[in-house]
Amino acid sequence: MKLYNQKDTTIKIKQKAKEIGFDLVGICSPEPFTRAYSLIKKRKLSEFVSDNIEQLTTPREHLSSARSIISLGISYASKDDVIDNTQNKNTCKQFISLYARGIDYHKIINEKMDRLLAYLNKIDPQVEAVAYSDTGAILDREIAYRAGLGWIGKNNNLINPKYGSYLFLGEIITNLVLKYDKAMEAQCGNCNRCLIKCPAGALKAYHLDPDKCLSYITQKKGILTEEERKDIDNRLWGCDTCLDVCPYNNDIPVNIHKEFIPVLESDIETILQFTKNNIPLEWKNSALSWRGLRILKRNTIINLGNKGDNEYIPLLERVLKNPSPILRAYAVWALGQIKADGIIIIIKEHYKSEHNKIVLKEIKNILNKDT
Ligand code: SF4
Repeated sequence: MKLYNQKDTTIKIKQKAKEIGFDLVGICSPEPFTRAYSLIKKRKLSEFVSDNIEQLTTPREHLSSARSIISLGISYASKDDVIDNTQNKNTCKQFISLYARGIDYHKIINEKMDRLLAYLNKIDPQVEAVAYSDTGAILDREIAYRAGLGWIGKNNNLINPKYGSYLFLGEIITNLVLKYDKAMEAQCGNCNRCLIKCPAGALKAYHLDPDKCLSYITQKKGILTEEERKDIDNRLWGCDTCLDVCPYNNDIPVNIHKEFIPVLESDIETILQFTKNNIPLEWKNSALSWRGLRILKRNTIINLGNKGDNEYIPLLERVLKNPSPILRAYAVWALGQIKADGIIIIIKEHYKSEHNKIVLKEIKNILNKDT
């Protein structure tokens, strides 16, 4: 390896990261995250995080020669109006988490990290490095905390005093020997706003129950329970309540990066028309597209059920003709939530031609409730 000055190189890398467009950069050691390891052992992880706890908490499992980790953060905070879930009855707009309303952050961050990797290669052509951004293979937040980017709040998000917590994170594990930053002290104090406001009671201080978190529920596959469907309310994708109520997200810089300025607006009627061929580009390029169209349509049908509005009956009747039994099942449920004459007749009529077990079960649930 080339000889280099540890302090100067650290400063240059940090300058370069800022020049490339990262708002936050810090360095930490690649020692195993032992505290996180024992916490994770006792808790249930979401299905979007690797279940290989050893690998999640041991950076050298990713790069055996690791000597430092460069932690990177970029703000996606925006002034854009938040759609108030409690006022959903008067709007056909559905709630979409702010992080998913701009261009898919993975593409932007990976491109920026590639530029930083190229710079590391200039410092030392033999450098070894691996980069991640929200892959679920390593604990981005723990790394960011150790590298001094912020503290992990009671809402489980990383909070930076200047930028708040609307932050995308990434990291480069490298064999370069760099100067480490100090972790920041937690500053939540006596505040408990996020714990009180969490709509599904998924948050306990510094712990999130993925089975209750509405953000996970809007993304998970399989048949949702009645309670989960009701809890989703007007959410098409994600839930930002624990971020929106956090006082550290007031008076923060917004719209810093044009790529993350929200472009996505939802509209119940148009989502149900989406196909692989006609989905608009801004939807295709969003971070919510990876889960597939059926999840978006499913959530939309649930949103319609939660609205319980008569005007959506014809739309739901059309879904009863959809080739997907899953969508038909949710349409039956959604129709069952609407208090209007003729709903039971529509469901009974559909019963005559339905053969799928899942849909038939939903029909029976609704008819049993009616008797
Ligand atoms: Fe901490 Fe309060 Fe923010 Fe929750 S809302 S993360 S308790 S500061």
